[in-house]
Amino acid sequence: MSSFKSISGTFDILPDGETSGGDTIAPSRDWQRVEQAIRKVMQAYGAEEIRTPILEPTELISRGVGQLTDIVSKEMFAFERGNTNYVLRPEMTAPVMRAYQQHHLDQKGGVQRLYYIGPCFRAERPQKGRYRQFHQFGLEIIGASDARADAETIVCAVDIYRALGLDNFTIRLNSLGDAESRPRYKQALIEFITPFADQLSEVSRNRLESNPMRILDTKSEKEQSLLVGAPKLADYIDEESKAHHNEVKAYLDAVGIKYVDDPFLVRGLDYYSRTAFEIESDTLGSQGSLAGGGRYDLLSTELGAKQVIPAVGFAAGMERLLMALEAANLSGGEKTRLDAFLVAMGDAAINWTFPTARSLRDLGLDVAYDLKGRSMKAQLREANRQNARFMVIVGDEELASGTAQVKDMDQSSQKTVSFDQLANELKR
Ligand code: AMP
Repeated sequence: MSSFKSISGTFDILPDGETSGGDTIAPSRDWQRVEQAIRKVMQAYGAEEIRTPILEPTELISRGVGQLTDIVSKEMFAFERGNTNYVLRPEMTAPVMRAYQQHHLDQKGGVQRLYYIGPCFRAERPQKGRYRQFHQFGLEIIGASDARADAETIVCAVDIYRALGLDNFTIRLNSLGDAESRPRYKQALIEFITPFADQLSEVSRNRLESNPMRILDTKSEKEQSLLVGAPKLADYIDEESKAHHNEVKAYLDAVGIKYVDDPFLVRGLDYYSRTAFEIESDTLGSQGSLAGGGRYDLLSTELGAKQVIPAVGFAAGMERLLMALEAANLSGGEKTRLDAFLVAMGDAAINWTFPTARSLRDLGLDVAYDLKGRSMKAQLREANRQNARFMVIVGDEELASGTAQVKDMDQSSQKTVSFDQLANELKR
């Protein structure tokens, strides 16, 4: 066996799943089932897939996501080669906006609805539900400032969860206002917090000047109690943003989507303005954030566009979704079935398996056989392991008469079938 192991915080996705540091990683068929559901719902929203490189210029992320965010300040897998700085993408919104601008997708007219599914990388401390290589899926609606676009991203995420049977989650919603609202609010927060700053943790104290809104995210009960009565962002945002926020809520109300107004929700990425939201699992506990998103009209110009390109989107964790499905007993994707497993006895029958499997596969059947010349018993065991519907047993006698013994594994019945009828029998 190899002396190498996958890097801590990364994992393999195996046919029957794996256990990684006490965490259960779902079988690959569960990933496929979830991916199919995502694609189906995205299609229903008129979204088309975008695939961008895993490697991006580091500056795209530091400029796009923001220098002061955790992602950029301490979680990037970045390296230099020649004169270029590369980063393994930690998120997908900045790369999608880069691609949109690079390929002038705005010239296609109208609004672009782009969705993605793929791996992202963050140098976090690995723990349950928090990995160094994880997978995000998401939707970006680019080119629309209409409040329906904000509501639609939220509803789209909800529809994906519901398509999979999941509905025990809470949507938290806030408005971050326009580009001027936040500096105004930041100043008010600094003034409120400074008198008791010495009672804060070191992490929070360090955030006071640079990013005081992140202090509001604190999980410490002591800090939370100190923050009671802190100024609310809602009181500092501009009138237009307020009206936009009310419109988003009215659209959600119109389709019966419940949400909680959370005036302290700021999210850890710098590019959001106006709408910010988070979808939290009611069952997953500390790593319960299923998805987050919001409006990011400020990102386009940050990346060099001459005019603001209004945009809104969500990003969701695949691992978190799979964990939530398992917690709700909804994960059980059935193991895929083979139509037939060919069981060969003797050299002539072994030679028969190869062309026979090929022609049965040509007819649309899923077929496998033993590749190791093993005993009959071992072949039967393998057929069972692979969950075959039929076992097709052939030895010298069968070859001579042009027939096979076909065993129906569900009915436990067996019959003799001529070779020319074999495909029909297996297709039943
Ligand atoms: P973010 O891009 O930080 O807003 O994250 C969006 C979603 O991605 C979160 O709600 C999580 O579901 C998921 N996520 C973020 N970071 C990780 C991670 N390190 N491991 C697993 N899932 C993650």
